[in-house]
Amino acid sequence: MVKELIHDPLFLSIKAKPASPVDIPVAQNLQDTLLAHRETCVGMAANMIGVAKQIIAFLDGTVCTVMYNPVITARSKPYTAEEGCLSLPGDPRKTMRWAKITVQFQDAQFRRQKKTYTGFTAQIIQHEIDHCNGILI
Ligand SMILES: [Zn+2]
Repeated sequence: MVKELIHDPLFLSIKAKPASPVDIPVAQNLQDTLLAHRETCVGMAANMIGVAKQIIAFLDGTVCTVMYNPVITARSKPYTAEEGCLSLPGDPRKTMRWAKITVQFQDAQFRRQKKTYTGFTAQIIQHEIDHCNGILI
C-alpha cells in the first residue's frame, strides 16, 4: 500500500528500532511507496512512511531490494556527494560518502546476508541507513 510521506524533522531524527518478521507488511508498503515515487526517488527508509523500524528499500537499476537491520561493517574511499531527500525539500546538500561499503543485513526472508556495494548503489544505501539512525542530510 502506498503511504503518505513524513516530513517532520523531529520524527525523522528518532533512531529506528530493530525490525522483526512482524514488520514484513511495513516493508511491502515501503516498496509500494518507493515505486510510486520512482521518478524522483531511488531509496526509502521506513521512518519516511511513519514507522521507526530499521528497514530500507532501494532501487538497483529496476530491481527493488529490501534490507532489514542494515549495518555498514566496512567502508573505504571517502568522497563528497550532493544529495537530495524526498522527506526534506530543497536543493541538494553536500555530504560525505564512501565509494565502497560492506553491509550486513537480513534479506526479504530474514536470512542473514553480507554484501559489498560500490558507486551509486552504495551511496543510496548509506543515505537510507542514515535515515534509520535519525541522521538527515
Ligand atoms: Zn532521504
